[in-house]
Amino acid sequence: MASIAARPPMHRRELSSSSFAEAFEAARQKLEQTNFDEVTPVGTPFTPFTPAADDDTFSDPGSLVGDNESGPSSSLASPVTAPVTPAYDPDVADDFAFAFDIDGVLVRGGQAIPEAVEAMKMLNGENEYGIRVPYIFLTNGGGKFETERCKDLSKQLEIEVSPGQFICGHTPMRELSHAYKGTVLVVGGEGQKCREVAKSYGFRDVITPGDIIKANSATAPFRKLSEEDAAASRDLLAEGYKSLKDVVVEAVFVFADSRDWASDLQIIMDVAMSQGGRLETRSHTFEEGPPIYFSHNDVVWSAAHEHVRLGMGALRRIVEVVFEECTGGKKLTTHAFGKPQVGTFEFATRLLQQWRAQQHGLDDGKVGTVYFVGDTPESDIRGTNAMNAKCEGTDWYSILVKTGVYQDGTEPAYKPRVTVPTVLDSVKYGIEREMARRKAKSGADQRLMLDEVAKKALTADAGTPEIKIYSEETC
Ligand SMILES: [Mg+2]
Repeated sequence: MASIAARPPMHRRELSSSSFAEAFEAARQKLEQTNFDEVTPVGTPFTPFTPAADDDTFSDPGSLVGDNESGPSSSLASPVTAPVTPAYDPDVADDFAFAFDIDGVLVRGGQAIPEAVEAMKMLNGENEYGIRVPYIFLTNGGGKFETERCKDLSKQLEIEVSPGQFICGHTPMRELSHAYKGTVLVVGGEGQKCREVAKSYGFRDVITPGDIIKANSATAPFRKLSEEDAAASRDLLAEGYKSLKDVVVEAVFVFADSRDWASDLQIIMDVAMSQGGRLETRSHTFEEGPPIYFSHNDVVWSAAHEHVRLGMGALRRIVEVVFEECTGGKKLTTHAFGKPQVGTFEFATRLLQQWRAQQHGLDDGKVGTVYFVGDTPESDIRGTNAMNAKCEGTDWYSILVKTGVYQDGTEPAYKPRVTVPTVLDSVKYGIEREMARRKAKSGADQRLMLDEVAKKALTADAGTPEIKIYSEETC
């Protein structure tokens, strides 16, 4: 049997700058010293997963950037395409913008939601005011290169979508490649895609559950790799490792939804219970496993089926519960990116600033209002409202649509500023609200008045959509 080398210093890393990843790491280290029973209010530094008895969302509204006053560096939201020449356009709205969730808002089951195509046209100038409105996309989904996902979206929405206006769940993980220079375990997605994405992010040594099963088929007794998967998986034992015990995982990244929950759960659990991430070992304390990151925390999502489907947040919850069962009550704290994390919205803010500057010549800094349109109260609305509570100078305005996870007639767990039927109504509503603002002189009730004017403008149309404005107190 191969000798076991010293455990890597996984929990002690030097922080050299204020990048998203390092701030996240600092927050993570800080939370390790936190009393996990404390419930931390929204807007405070990154908090651990603290499921309350009446909280079935498993969400963490805290900021990923912790106490870092200056915030992450601007390079974090750098588009992956070359910048285009800025050109000032007087017809572009300079004081507001839109940000969209994708699944259940614009796309469902791989097809565009009918109103979505028209909504995009309206943003691109086909509206009665002749204005064009900047917009970005912020989805918790993933499992592909951002460029590929943009290509899909371009086809679905009949517009050109640039990676410079797109963030998916695992995009911020790019920055963690600086923190983990050794072996990382990447879970989820089709075939080898997530390994390729992780490598493109800068992770140097990426292994997958398939690699582990290929080296030891007893790892997952009921999963047999297909010929294709076996051929594509790394042959770790041929690469110089004498056994899997020589492989030390520094961190686990669940990039996209698992395609085989049972074997992925088994392997995540093995690593979580290992001696410092060393495969096929068991810790005596169960307190030395490497960090586990999920690209988002949505328990359900809106797919082609008439009822919502289980998502990555469900696997995250299972991992934590099963760990507790298997270790005699030890707690496992995992970490999630994506919405509703405020850090993800801060990332989106910087992306939007860059997009406005590069695409529209708007380099005046902050935008007055960002209308965020989503279908999931627990991630889209919760995150937007938390961002709004924290953000100064920009009004993050949450709009809930009825084409996805949220069921019309039910009370949303997190209240939006307004609920509208479809994404097209959300775009009309935001534009009307902004046009009303331009006309409005001033007044203490300006916000309420703007909402009422916008609602009136939409309900004056034939086929009146049902719009519900929530009062400020309930937001
Ligand atoms: Mg959605």
